[in-house]
Amino acid sequence: MNIIQCTFCKRPFASIGGKVCPACLEQIDQDFITVRDYIYEHKHSNIDLIAEETEVSKQKIMYLLKEGRLIIDSPDGEGGGLLHCEMCKKSISTGRLCKDCMGKVATSMDRNVGGQKKTESKTPEQNLKSSAKIK
Ligand SMILES: [Zn+2]
Ligand SMILES: [Zn+2]
Repeated sequence: MNIIQCTFCKRPFASIGGKVCPACLEQIDQDFITVRDYIYEHKHSNIDLIAEETEVSKQKIMYLLKEGRLIIDSPDGEGGGLLHCEMCKKSISTGRLCKDCMGKVATSMDRNVGGQKKTESKTPEQNLKSSAKIK
């Protein structure tokens, strides 16, 4: 167990893996319900509006998005440019990776069972090129 500083309240706490203390996690669970209900009623909202209307900080909303617990749909269906895939930088609406890259990670993990580290630095570029063509 590690003593680390909570992302939100900055207090040190004993972490079992997360970066958020139990008190903040509890608060976030409540905020999550508030934000989720708001998004449910106001589809195609943007994060500024959501933060303002729900009084939940943008930092917390972003946290929930990255955790994959919240999904913000924008009119173009790509999350309004809030989140970007950590591999190909494509706009996504939830989590850390787009569906394409999640698929790639899954297959590369299968391939790397032998313990070899990633050698896929070219993949994001290729992906960028192919997505640029589509547009
Ligand atoms: Zn905290
Ligand atoms: Zn991607």
